[in-house]
Amino acid sequence: SYAHDLDRALTFIQKHDQFLVVAHVNPDGDAISSTVAIGWLLSQWNKSFTMVNANEVPSKLMFLSKADEILVAEQGHLKEREPFQAVICVDCADYARIGSISDWVAPNAHILNIDHHPTNDRYGDVALIREDAAATAEILFDLFDRGVIPLSNEIATILYTGLLTDTGGFRYSNTTPHVMEIASKLLAYGVKGNVIAERLLEAISKPQMNLIQRGLSRLSYASDERIAWLYITPEDMQQTGASNEDLEGLVNYPRNIEGVEVGLLFKEVIPGRVKVSMRSAGDINVAAIAQIFDGGGHVKAAGCTVHLPLEEAIQAVVEQVKQTL
Ligand code: 5GP
Ligand code: MN
Ligand code: MN
Repeated sequence: SYAHDLDRALTFIQKHDQFLVVAHVNPDGDAISSTVAIGWLLSQWNKSFTMVNANEVPSKLMFLSKADEILVAEQGHLKEREPFQAVICVDCADYARIGSISDWVAPNAHILNIDHHPTNDRYGDVALIREDAAATAEILFDLFDRGVIPLSNEIATILYTGLLTDTGGFRYSNTTPHVMEIASKLLAYGVKGNVIAERLLEAISKPQMNLIQRGLSRLSYASDERIAWLYITPEDMQQTGASNEDLEGLVNYPRNIEGVEVGLLFKEVIPGRVKVSMRSAGDINVAAIAQIFDGGGHVKAAGCTVHLPLEEAIQAVVEQVKQTL
């Protein structure tokens, strides 16, 4: 049962003394919130730990307490360290989602897997998974609640941010009564919900706006305009000065067009490697489509990486979507 899994997770954390805490590559709000939330718990319990991610923390999320303490592998922060024996993976549907950080995990390491993706394959020694949780941060709220761990404004702000971002501002279908109950409890700690929403969901940086402009100029459709997509090239990223976090939300433009059932964003990372974001506005399960390409995610929001030239990647994915319609 879920309650039993919460207890097993708490026991895992009590049992070890030194941890590596990691979330998925190209971290989003829930990934970073969950990383620092686990860090917060480990500090409370006087455990030693290292927080790390394969990629840079989005600058918009640096306001979160201790987000600046997350080491970034791509900046060389992990060179010459001893591999870790105890690892907590948050918001990672499968172990490969930690990316290059697997180099810092001992071959026989003990792993705690905390996640909410329906495609989670239950890797690790202890898997704390709740598929109907809106965010990993929601599961962490349950975990702290179960452990009777008193909260503060600091941790409430962290958890609220994970909930806010993974529910698209409490709008997606994962916004359950439980989510709203938790959000209400967190707000009671003095969380500035409006400030966080403005910063994370409303504000658009100049490079991001320039990227939106380029992306929209290439809007394309298939299947009687039930599928729509945009693509972004490395030149776009360079010429606009945009970073990965500026891609956030871009896939919603095709997805939000009236009549469109599946919106796609293709980001050519390098020639021959294309990151695909999939969003469903209707009944289509995009996680199932992403899984065909070794990706995963949620029914209405999923992704994968396709190892093909941009044109061919677009064609291959659009073809799969067409067949699903
Ligand atoms: P996004 O399109 O925002 O990158 O990702 C949407 C959702 O799909 C997120 O829940 C994310 O974790 C998941 N996702 C994106 N790419 C991949 C992937 O390559 N593999 C898996 N398993 N999940 C992914
Ligand atoms: Mn995530
Ligand atoms: Mn999440």
